[in-house]
Amino acid sequence: MSPAAPSVSRRLLARLRDVMAGGGGAEERLNRVVGLIAADMVAEVCSCYVMRAGEVLELFATEGLKKGAIHNTRLRVGEGLVGDIAAHARPLALADAQSHPNFAYRPETGEEIFHSLMGVPIIRGGRVVGVLVVQNRTMRHYTDEEIETMETVAMVLAELVASGELVSRDELVPVDGNALLPLRLEGIRLNGGVGIGTAVLHNPRIIIRRLVAEDPDLEHERLKIALADIKKALDDLFSRPEMRDGEHRDVLETYRMFTEDKGWLGKIGEAINTGLTAEAAVQKVHEDMRARMSQISDPYLRERLHDFEDLANRLLQHLSGEGGAASKGELPADAILFARSMGPMELFDYDPKRLRGLVMEEGSPTMHVAIVARALDIPVVGRCKEALDKVEPLDPVVVDGDNGQVFLRPSDDIRDIFSDALNQRQQRAAHYAKLKDLPAITRDGIAVRLMMNAGLLLDLQHLHECGADGIGLYRTELPFMARSSLPDVAAQTTLYNKILDQAAGKPVVFRTLDVGGDKVLPYWNPYEEDNPALGWRSIRITLDRPAVMRHQLRALIRAAAGRELSIMFPMVAEVAELVQARHLLDMEIAHEKGKGHVLPERIRVGTMLEVPALAFQMDSLLPLVDFVSIGSNDMAQFLFAVDRGNPRIADRYDPLSPAMLTFMRYVASKCDAAGVPLSVCGEMAGRPLEAMALLACGVRILSVSSPATSPVKTMIRSLSVGPVRDYLDHCLKLPDRSLRDRLRSFALDHHVIL
Ligand code: PEP
Ligand code: MG
Repeated sequence: MSPAAPSVSRRLLARLRDVMAGGGGAEERLNRVVGLIAADMVAEVCSCYVMRAGEVLELFATEGLKKGAIHNTRLRVGEGLVGDIAAHARPLALADAQSHPNFAYRPETGEEIFHSLMGVPIIRGGRVVGVLVVQNRTMRHYTDEEIETMETVAMVLAELVASGELVSRDELVPVDGNALLPLRLEGIRLNGGVGIGTAVLHNPRIIIRRLVAEDPDLEHERLKIALADIKKALDDLFSRPEMRDGEHRDVLETYRMFTEDKGWLGKIGEAINTGLTAEAAVQKVHEDMRARMSQISDPYLRERLHDFEDLANRLLQHLSGEGGAASKGELPADAILFARSMGPMELFDYDPKRLRGLVMEEGSPTMHVAIVARALDIPVVGRCKEALDKVEPLDPVVVDGDNGQVFLRPSDDIRDIFSDALNQRQQRAAHYAKLKDLPAITRDGIAVRLMMNAGLLLDLQHLHECGADGIGLYRTELPFMARSSLPDVAAQTTLYNKILDQAAGKPVVFRTLDVGGDKVLPYWNPYEEDNPALGWRSIRITLDRPAVMRHQLRALIRAAAGRELSIMFPMVAEVAELVQARHLLDMEIAHEKGKGHVLPERIRVGTMLEVPALAFQMDSLLPLVDFVSIGSNDMAQFLFAVDRGNPRIADRYDPLSPAMLTFMRYVASKCDAAGVPLSVCGEMAGRPLEAMALLACGVRILSVSSPATSPVKTMIRSLSVGPVRDYLDHCLKLPDRSLRDRLRSFALDHHVIL
């Protein structure tokens, strides 16, 4: 930024402050403001458009255009250059505006004589509430500094627009229908479970009262102190007992690094230099980021921005002396939090004992707050669009994390259904507790190995509670995703060691790093792909980057010294890939032996079967592996050519189809003939009806999420495999698209408990 720029803008800001603090109605003040901006920016025109109900931008004040246009000129969002600025929430500067394809000529304004235009969105709470524009007769090239100045001014104006004096606040908040009616919102499951409670809006906006500063040095100092306070609070958090172990600790370590991020702090510093107070500077950078966030589709970047948002909010609280909702001590005993999004630290602001659920407008399963919520056992629904617009504080709410839905102001019927469900859950939990030590054996004497899927250290505690026979799938990528850099061999060894210790002798199948697709590592440059699910992911990455694979294998070998180690390779599409992976493992074994390290007592090597092609090489595959595990999530995706993450087609094909089950039966018979144990570890295995079908296909090992172990065991203990196998043999010949109804009826007729 040129040295002159801050002084220009500071002078302007000081004048604006005087106008805003002065008397007169809001429109009068707005008129004076556009006059001031025009003079200061040496522009013939300065106009302010305000967003009205129905996404229409209305001209509210102008210096330089015909006064008759005020309240007459209206543009829809996306229409004309002003509408374009609002639609994209970003500035636009054009030396020759009239030749721009989006230019929309409005005769009432008399603007045909002005050639250049520069406009910025007026953003408030992440929403565009207006547009501020300057125009010049000449073909002027506006500088970056001038755009910055306009953005700063727009921020000051946002307060005026949002004050409700220009248009009523109701117009600024888009509300669909009657806010008092019951409403069901859809989102995605980020953490299962049901919560019934009272809505609390996370972080109601902090009103910044002081925007313009007298002394930038003082503001820099205030910022420094606020940052130091936050770091201290983080240190305190780290000393809490629940933070001793687990990936949520890694998540917060990453967060701590953001408090030192030079780029972000630099932007705030620059904003202070332009004459804003520290809080206004944080707010400005924060608003810019939010607006940009809505344009970003990259999941990794979006998630990191959430962490910055969290930090910005926290800074604002410190600087403005206002606490967020949490610090006011008003949290109801059954709070359901609503947030646009949340950073990992924010959840710790609330008393976990009082939290019954979390609903966010954004979010993805790998997002940091979801990992923390899992640690705290709070149901979470994400991507619940417009939730904040539709909920009112203290509304009664039901969060159904299992099905990714939220009921606002539910009717008594809905509430009763869910309280019954909650009660039943508790009763079932008691029943399942009794079941945990009973064997998973069918009525006709077939023993099933019931294993559990895990991905976080905290899952291990469930292993003993649910009585699973071991961990059939340990997704090692989750700890990688929670950290800020690739964990080295020592860090991985420590983690795998802890896992094996906590498994206390029960077997654990470690799956090597399965990233790519929708699982993005923060420190790995995301590689732009049109079809990430079919792209450079999983074993394709680790074979191309053998050092990563070798380090992981080395850590696993070290962690399992003197014990049994089971390693499984994901997304293997051809036997040659498995051979290559085994070769890396052999190299690591030799490496460890050469160093004189104690080796595992036994190493079992298996493959996941997730890509159909591999099933056509069973004869050459089976002699090379100690076990096979079908990843039914990816398998269904590739078998049906259906994106597993796309809700639109989620229910289009049924895993209980003749095609999928014929496939399962084929693989099971091949494995059985070769004496190679076969398991299924996708979601399918955890649903009792599907698990019944898998047993009928010949599968004898199921690896399921911990809450699914007991229902699946209950099913197993009530089933005779013989009859269902015969029935399935018959059904597989049918042309049906799904066998679900038939299998369900069979279960009912044969008293199989589903
Ligand atoms: C699967 O694809 O079924 C599987 C278990 O792996 P993930 O869900 O981790 O891709
Ligand atoms: Mg998979």
